[in-house]
Amino acid sequence: MSNDATSNAGAPCPSCGAVPAARFADCQAMWDQLLAESFSNFAYARLHRAIVDAYSLQHPDPYCKSAKSYAAHLTGICCAVEHGDTPEVNAAMQRWLSTNPELDKPDVPVTRGRLTIASVIELRVPSEITAALEVWFEDVWRAYEAQHGVTREWIQRLSAADGGTGMTTA
Ligand SMILES: [Zn+2]
Repeated sequence: MSNDATSNAGAPCPSCGAVPAARFADCQAMWDQLLAESFSNFAYARLHRAIVDAYSLQHPDPYCKSAKSYAAHLTGICCAVEHGDTPEVNAAMQRWLSTNPELDKPDVPVTRGRLTIASVIELRVPSEITAALEVWFEDVWRAYEAQHGVTREWIQRLSAADGGTGMTTA
């Protein structure tokens, strides 16, 4: 991807398809802003981790290059959508990945969701932000349907190995 943001101003992102809102040069500029807001704005705080997962899964190059980071983002978004807030599982996942397990990198889908960061970046009302983020997460997770099986398997394995992470796997 080009670092020369000005030359592509207003053009849809080649990775996620987001059309930048008027005040942004490109998708990366929206991402910089959302990241900053997710650290400082209470409305985003709880969802910070899933925000990173959703954006990364829509930008697999560069964020899901290794099987390791891909697996971390897949399990992160799965936890956010299917289990609510489960920091224990994400922590268990990090511990497991830090042991460099043998992982086959699942395929990355060509279509990675209809909704993008553009659907949340202009919102200012906390309840609207939270709702829009959750719809975005669900949309990204749905786009990765082919990987639902392997992702749920990882989570189940981690929950079992961790001796009860406080979450229930249905
Ligand atoms: Zn993008």
